[in-house]
This record gives sequence, structure tokens and C-alpha cells, in this order.
Amino acid sequence: MPIFEYKCSECDNKFEELVLGSRSTVVCTTCQSENVEKQISSFAASISSSKSSPSCGGNGGGCSSGFS
Ligand SMILES: [Zn+2]
Repeated sequence: MPIFEYKCSECDNKFEELVLGSRSTVVCTTCQSENVEKQISSFAASISSSKSSPSCGGNGGGCSSGFS
């Protein structure tokens, strides 16, 4: 899911925006300015990687034992 992090150049507000198309205009969530900078969002990347590769290793045994 293409979630990008932006920082507003006007008010330094940092926010995340779900971008569905390259032509969509991203504006600041606080001041509605279009003067925003796209950041490299390691936060969104860590979320997607944690979902696709769980920390239990994927052997199929260790994960469910501690859940219930
Ligand atoms: Zn702003």
C-alpha cells in the first residue's frame, strides 16, 4: 500500500498520505498548503515488512503457541 510520509514546508507538519495515483495532489493536513516534501517513510516500510515476514520465523509452530 503506497503510504508516503510528507513534511510541510510551511508549518513543518509531518503527516502520512495514502497515494493512490501519481497525479493526486498532496496537501498539508494542517494548513492545506501544497508546499510539501515527500519523505522516505521507513515507518510504512517496517509495517509492511512485519506483516509479510513475521518475527516467529515461519516454521508454523512457534507463532500460535503464545497467542491463545
Ligand atoms: Zn502545513
